[in-house]
Amino acid sequence: MTKAKLVEILRDMGEEIPDDESAPKNKSPHGKVKYTCKECGGKGICEHNNRKPYCKISRGSQICEHNKRKAGCNVCQRVNILKKKQFVD
Ligand SMILES: [Zn+2]
Ligand SMILES: [Zn+2]
Ligand SMILES: [Zn+2]
Repeated sequence: MTKAKLVEILRDMGEEIPDDESAPKNKSPHGKVKYTCKECGGKGICEHNNRKPYCKISRGSQICEHNKRKAGCNVCQRVNILKKKQFVD
C-alpha cells in the first residue's frame, strides 16, 4: 500500500491528514487529492457528487444494508460482535 493510498483511507475514516507535499501529482488545482476532488470529477467521486464508497444512493462498498457507513452502524457492529463470539465458542 502506498502512503498516498493510506492517507486517502484515513481521510475517508474522518482523520485530518495534512496534504503531503511529496505527492504533488495527485493534487488537483483545488488543493485536494484529485481522486476525491468533486470539481475535477475524480474517479473516487460518483455521479451524485459523493465519495463512491460512501454514497448511499450508489450503495458504495462502505454503506451497509441499513444505509449507514458500515464503520458507524450500530446494528452491523453488534452483528459482527455476535458473529465473532460464535466463532470463538
Ligand atoms: Zn479539483
Ligand atoms: Zn452515488
Ligand atoms: Zn448496518
